[in-house]
Amino acid sequence: MSGMDESLRPEKSRITIFNEPINCQFCSNDVFTPYEVIVNVEQPGIGVRHVRYVAICQYCGKAKHFGDPSYYDVEKDNYIWALNQSLLSIKKYKIKIIFFVGKRKQEKVTIFLNSLIQNFKAEVENIKDYKGEVLLQIKFSNSNDKQAVRSMIMGCARRLKINVKEITIK
Ligand SMILES: [Zn+2]
Repeated sequence: MSGMDESLRPEKSRITIFNEPINCQFCSNDVFTPYEVIVNVEQPGIGVRHVRYVAICQYCGKAKHFGDPSYYDVEKDNYIWALNQSLLSIKKYKIKIIFFVGKRKQEKVTIFLNSLIQNFKAEVENIKDYKGEVLLQIKFSNSNDKQAVRSMIMGCARRLKINVKEITIK
């Protein structure tokens, strides 16, 4: 992977610093939208780039701060670019989840539904409740792959102690 000599674009992406992927320290996901931040630097040294970024984790919304440690290698007479960004394409997903919440747990269903709507900007296509077994169909667009989407939904369910019987992602 080669580095790049331009600023990171404020788009959903995975970012590496010297080929090391950056991860969120709160949820360990690796998809961020980076924004360049302006810092006041008095008399910056020649050949030193004072670029700073704040990258927003696209899963939990926490911010990660980092600089651009690119440097000029005198011996190789070459600039060593530190940052690399791979932009993610947005995919459309249709999801079917069957889960149990037991009796009198309507508020759990509501919380689960709200967190899916909030996290994924999901659109609810169908929801049916058969005495505690709920069938939920949602759709949304997301830049993560199927596996990541699945584990995000499962994590969401786990936190709410929702027992997922089946999950289909298309
Ligand atoms: Zn995060």
